[in-house]
Amino acid sequence: MSVSEQLQQVRQRIANACQSAGREPHSVELLAVSKTKPLSMLLEAYDQGQRQFGENYLQDALEKIEANPHDDIIWHFIGAIQSNKTKTIAENFAWVHTLEREKIARRLSEQRPAHLPPLKVCIQVNISEETAKSGVSLAELPNLAAIVNELPKLELVGLMCIPAAQQTEAVQRQAFVAMAAALRQLQQHYPQCQTLSMGMSGDLELAIDEGTTMVRIGTDIFGARAPKPA
Ligand SMILES: *Cc1c(COP(=O)(O)O)cnc(C)c1O
Repeated sequence: MSVSEQLQQVRQRIANACQSAGREPHSVELLAVSKTKPLSMLLEAYDQGQRQFGENYLQDALEKIEANPHDDIIWHFIGAIQSNKTKTIAENFAWVHTLEREKIARRLSEQRPAHLPPLKVCIQVNISEETAKSGVSLAELPNLAAIVNELPKLELVGLMCIPAAQQTEAVQRQAFVAMAAALRQLQQHYPQCQTLSMGMSGDLELAIDEGTTMVRIGTDIFGARAPKPA
């Protein structure tokens, strides 16, 4: 199937899931995760109206950002952030979904170019409490949120999670429910936080059922990926 056919199918799944959940179809945004995929495939999605793209690997992303002919693509960084990469991220992306450390937050704010609007950031929550995984715990979240909120060139917009893989549906649902509750709490202090970045190819329906506002879909739009680049 072509990228445009797969994109149509994903849009239909989102619409169906919104309907079963009793939600407005436009209450869920689609982030097309194009990591490791060639620019030609992104442009096929662009031609079908897709504007938001997510990338994980900086070098791979930069090549596409620089070669892409359009100026209205919204680039989201959704990968692990090393501190020597913050400048490039701050200069080239509109969003970061994977913020989890104060030091990285401060660098991103300092390095965000003055002529660009503040970088939109979601704090990543390690909702399944996996020891080797990224993200802050729910206990650490208020402290990091307060720091991010004070940084002039960052705009705290919400939360993101990648729940543990291969869980039962009940366990996955529990993680999404906990994220939605965490966002509601955050909104009491920071009402501008309206984004819940959760749900991928395998669990987008469940995420929509539990209140996600942005699903991040790679495989089901662009096909399976080769192992990550070195
Ligand atoms: C790769 C990736 C996705 C997309 O996952 P699929 O299962 O291919 O849809 C979503 N979010 C993050 C953070 C990713 O790294």
